Amino acid sequence: MTTEHRSNVSMNPDSVAVHGGREDLQELGVHALPLDLSTTYPLPDIEHGGDSYESMALGGHPLPEGGAVYARLWNPTVARFESGLAQMEKAEAAVAFASGMAAMTAAILAAKDSPKVTANPTLRPHVVAVRPLYGGTDHLLASGLLGVDATFCAENDVAGAVREETVLIVLETPANPTLELVDIRNIVAQAGSVPVLVDNTFATPVLQNPITLGASMSLHSATKYIGGHGDAVGGVIACSEQTAQSLRSVRAITGAILHPLGAYLLHRGLATLPVRMRGQQESAVRIAEWLHSHPGVEKVHYPGNDGDPLGLLERQMHGTGAMVSISLTGGFEAAMRLTSGVRMFTHAVSLGGVDSLIQHPAALTHRPVAPEARPLPNLVRLSIGLECVEDLIKDLEQALAPVSAGGDQRADHKVGAAIH
Ligand code: PLP
Repeated sequence: MTTEHRSNVSMNPDSVAVHGGREDLQELGVHALPLDLSTTYPLPDIEHGGDSYESMALGGHPLPEGGAVYARLWNPTVARFESGLAQMEKAEAAVAFASGMAAMTAAILAAKDSPKVTANPTLRPHVVAVRPLYGGTDHLLASGLLGVDATFCAENDVAGAVREETVLIVLETPANPTLELVDIRNIVAQAGSVPVLVDNTFATPVLQNPITLGASMSLHSATKYIGGHGDAVGGVIACSEQTAQSLRSVRAITGAILHPLGAYLLHRGLATLPVRMRGQQESAVRIAEWLHSHPGVEKVHYPGNDGDPLGLLERQMHGTGAMVSISLTGGFEAAMRLTSGVRMFTHAVSLGGVDSLIQHPAALTHRPVAPEARPLPNLVRLSIGLECVEDLIKDLEQALAPVSAGGDQRADHKVGAAIH
């Protein structure tokens, strides 16, 4: 099948993952993704080079007669990754950044440029954020660092929190670290004309496509499932071409573009994302079930664990994912013993890779979150990888044994008190 044929057939998501963003490879005469590490590009002449520069600084594409000019503005390896991801997200475009947090920063800065607030300098831009969120996102919003005020609220309080100067609504589903599901359509309905950004890191484009549910942006820490091998940091936002222009302009000005080597690895990761996601999810379901009946475990946090009362798994997801959190009956002491007792799981932050990780959100990923919104000290988060599930269960069993033997020491808030 030629490239031309391939781009004309309607593809299944699994095929899009393998072929998306690779449409020009046949023409280039290569089979694997080309990696272009150029920092600068020869200019045909001042006029055409200058016009292309201006097009990209304003968030557009390089002009064919002027070229890519400079790697902070454009890179073909990054552009191919963006195209592949956009196709998987069923979005018009995608814009890739040096990290998930660089992507979130660009989304906030671009939203801040809304005529709503630029036309009235007395208004300070405002964001509504549905908690829980990844600790870094919560921290960025709460800090006011970007010149934006934030109101944190629960899912059903969004409409009441929206003000004249609200430029963005941010949510995560499933949320980090409690795996709570938020109804994307409900938030979009409450948002009115305010753009909604969904952090889709945990679900990936395989399990959820927020743009098809009315969101304006679907953001990923591509460092996680998209790369999948723990060797590339990156972020990406799928959105309309119009929003992509604002994001690319912010990216060019602030210098937050993804490195081409990262883009190469992340694009390669897309090809195996559906099969990794299904394999990791299958093990996560088994592990969540096994943990459910363990005496050292007070509660298992996993989508669908309490049924699907709002029908969200049915209506907005294609699966339950591979992240599992547990509240331990033995409190913080039990969390310490479990995280240091595992042998196959690695005690480390991050998630979504082929190897299983375990970490304590209150002490690490969610440490900067305000105490009242910080995860409890007995909560531990597991990222289930592709190891044999029996081995993972054996590992948890041996690491949890002293945890259960330690008796009931719940509600030890030492960490909560120690942080901030
Ligand atoms: N969003 C979520 C849900 C995350 O878990 C993370 C990081 O852990 C981020 C965003 C930030 O991404 P990055 O670490 O790539 O900057």
